[in-house]
Amino acid sequence: MEQFKGQPRLPKFASPKRYDIRLKPDLATCKFSGSVAIDLDIVSKTKFIVLNAADLSIQKETVSFTHKAFSSYLRPAPGRTSPVLGSAPSSSSTILSLFPSAVLNYLWQWWQRLWTWFFSFPTLERFRTKVFEPCKIDLVGEDEILVLEFPETLPTGIGVLAIDFDGILNDKMKGFYRSTYKHNGEKKNMAVTQFEPVDARRCFPCWDEPACKATFKISLDVPADLVALSNMPMVDEKVEGHVKTVFYQESPIMSTYLVAVVIGLFDYVEDHTSDGVKVRVYCQVGKQNQGKFALNVAVKTLEFYREYFAVPYSLPKLDMIAIPDFAYGAMENYGLVTYRETALLYDEQHSAAANKQRVTIVVTHELAHQWFGNLVTMEWWTHLWLNEGFATWVSYLAADRLFPEWESWTQFLQESVEGLRLDELAESHPIEVEINPAGEISEIFDAISYRKGASVIRMLQSYLGAECFQRSLAAYIKRHACSNAKTEDLWTALEEGSGEPVNKLMNSWTKQKGYPVVSVKINDNKLEFEQSQFLLSGSHGDGQWIVPIIFCCGSYDACQSFLLETKSASIDLEENEAWIKVNVDQTGFYRVKYDEDLQAELSYAIETKMLSATDRFGILDDSFALCMARQQSLTSLLTLMAAYGEELDCTVLSNLISISYKIARIAADATPELVDSIRHFFIILFQHSAEKLGWEAKAGESHLDAMLRGQILTALAEFGDEPTLREASRRFHAFLNDRSTPLLSPDIRKAAYVAVMQTVNASNRSGFESLLRVYRETDLSQEKTRILESLASCPDPNIILEVLGFILSSEVRSQDAVSGLAVCWEGRETAWNWLKENWEYIAKTWGSGVLIRRFVSSIVSPFASFEKAREVEDFFATRSQSSIARTLKQSIERVNINAHWVQSIQNEENFAETVDELLYGKS
Ligand SMILES: [Zn+2]
Repeated sequence: MEQFKGQPRLPKFASPKRYDIRLKPDLATCKFSGSVAIDLDIVSKTKFIVLNAADLSIQKETVSFTHKAFSSYLRPAPGRTSPVLGSAPSSSSTILSLFPSAVLNYLWQWWQRLWTWFFSFPTLERFRTKVFEPCKIDLVGEDEILVLEFPETLPTGIGVLAIDFDGILNDKMKGFYRSTYKHNGEKKNMAVTQFEPVDARRCFPCWDEPACKATFKISLDVPADLVALSNMPMVDEKVEGHVKTVFYQESPIMSTYLVAVVIGLFDYVEDHTSDGVKVRVYCQVGKQNQGKFALNVAVKTLEFYREYFAVPYSLPKLDMIAIPDFAYGAMENYGLVTYRETALLYDEQHSAAANKQRVTIVVTHELAHQWFGNLVTMEWWTHLWLNEGFATWVSYLAADRLFPEWESWTQFLQESVEGLRLDELAESHPIEVEINPAGEISEIFDAISYRKGASVIRMLQSYLGAECFQRSLAAYIKRHACSNAKTEDLWTALEEGSGEPVNKLMNSWTKQKGYPVVSVKINDNKLEFEQSQFLLSGSHGDGQWIVPIIFCCGSYDACQSFLLETKSASIDLEENEAWIKVNVDQTGFYRVKYDEDLQAELSYAIETKMLSATDRFGILDDSFALCMARQQSLTSLLTLMAAYGEELDCTVLSNLISISYKIARIAADATPELVDSIRHFFIILFQHSAEKLGWEAKAGESHLDAMLRGQILTALAEFGDEPTLREASRRFHAFLNDRSTPLLSPDIRKAAYVAVMQTVNASNRSGFESLLRVYRETDLSQEKTRILESLASCPDPNIILEVLGFILSSEVRSQDAVSGLAVCWEGRETAWNWLKENWEYIAKTWGSGVLIRRFVSSIVSPFASFEKAREVEDFFATRSQSSIARTLKQSIERVNINAHWVQSIQNEENFAETVDELLYGKS
């Protein structure tokens, strides 16, 4: 048995074809029992069957393998997916080739019928089958495998492996777990599954690898009054007393991580696509109105994807369901997509524009997976990025189609930036990453797989052209439908469709970590380009990329493009006096560093409104990154930011705000005597847009203005703008008296909550207590999240400690606790001490899931001293675990980067004078 331990993948001598699963959850005791019969093809003789199982209890007596004698005569030919009765023998290489194939086929069919008929007599059972019982079974905990050893060798061919098992409906939001809800004031349990990446094995024994696709026939024994859902539609239901058994249609072939079951009390709304797919949104009883928006988005999105992928949606129904306790945003289970409530439900009266957009992006993302992921599945987790990067990219394509006024491709830059910000760390990883122990998988559900993945797909699409890209993609989906694919398979399809060297181009982006900064300067009427790896630490990496460069000089009518395949290149320029923008529209995943003259021209072009929003966004973000990497001074970054005084674009301003938060924090460490002036500079910077937008929505205003208003007012509140704090307080009090007051629309609530928390301290707690009251009274998850995100912005460390205590209390669902970790600069040390004191509890509660990473990154990353980096390292030296290993290294790297940044700001000459000048004009 030893040879099976410590292996990254299951041995290949048996392959599952079909699962017949029966589950019986007990929602009162939170236990479940089940049985599975797996049709297996034993492809080479063996005494062992090895599959995945974890946290299940299995008795040896319930395990058996029934071999179907002669089944090898009836086995499907390799590559065919038809069950037991396979294809006719090939006539190419045997004596059979003397016969025409039609005759052969005819004879073959008769042969099959004869076998089936002959062995259909019950008395012949003995001849037809042979039952093998294992002499030993071993559940290997650390490898999550079940090894079955048989006393004699199992013959090749088809057989059925039967296993009974028992398990616990856990509270860890993975495997088969319980979530809770209130019905008529009473707390109840529901049973839910979350299997991706490797937790199907916690619900039933299985070959839990994406390439081991099979069909699934599921039945459930559940309380008769509950709703029970699975991937496929119900075909039959038998009620006996208080229990009903629900039988579902057998699924098409799919991977184990996509199997799903949900059992609880729900209402739903329903609609159909134009080609007859039944779509439902399920939610808690009484909330069905909140499902209507997502339903509408889903129906339109399915229709759009059918056209875009040139393949119809492959199941007869699509259910989407809101789960009160959910670790991820959503999960694309085939035909039964599960969501966190905030990502599916939209309340006309209490949800904000940002919530509406979140629901749209998550629904379009999950539905993209029904094709890209579910129909065509990654071969192994190394190719996870292909699923996630693609779904992220295409979700914006769908959102842009549904809501063109949202300017989704400008907003997409926020995704790209998250990818860039992680990939500029030395502790980043390549998009395609070697994955060995299962514990490593959850850590790659990160900004590299999703956001960098999406960004390099966008870069490629813009290089190849939209039409060619879509055509090649449709060919890829068709070629690999009901099967698995690797990254190279997508490149091959795109290479065939475009004639471009896609493989070579993309390997440089997916197989090495990091990305380049392209330095640009004018020398002797030549525009010179030079690439080098960009690292935020300021050190030099040795990566090199094939970079698609697009640039224009003075006007968008004169764009030029080329591939920078070597370290440097130069291009002749006509007499040039105007601005030059490289990476036009920010479609490339790289940064640009301009020489001083070019940067000054661009700054002027921003002020005089010559540049597009995407380019204004890119210039600002590149400049910020170069500043952190100490390749540009904070003086010059602040001077550039001043050029955005009349900025009104939502995405650009949103990035300007997030950069200003980071500068205010680092200034508090580097130049505490200047912090007030710097905060004042930011208040002035945002004044123009704040005045334009006001506190109240204007009739017929855009979605983007509605989103921006909340962000601008939140920034003014955080920077302590007195008039904003006063107005927020007035409106908040009106809201406390009347939750439907027009004075505090959902779009500005977070701003008001943050403002209220700025004035709270240990001796003036009323605002804090009022917010907790609103938290306790609302049953809208989005409202609760808004409040949690605001509480820790309070500058009083005593209150911060109370807030952190609150997020660990039973009043906050464990999925939501991480929303309360946005601790302000003043609370940083308190939060770190709190993390150390509570680490044991946190590791026990969140340790096996994806959320634990947020505790580490949110609390550690904001520090800015080398001593603190060492202290963190020391603390975790004996406490790290595989699910946080990478995040911990990245967080410590950030602390060191901040520490270097502090030193370099302190060494800047004339910094104080610049801040003065920016505030009071040139002296
Ligand atoms: Zn996804």
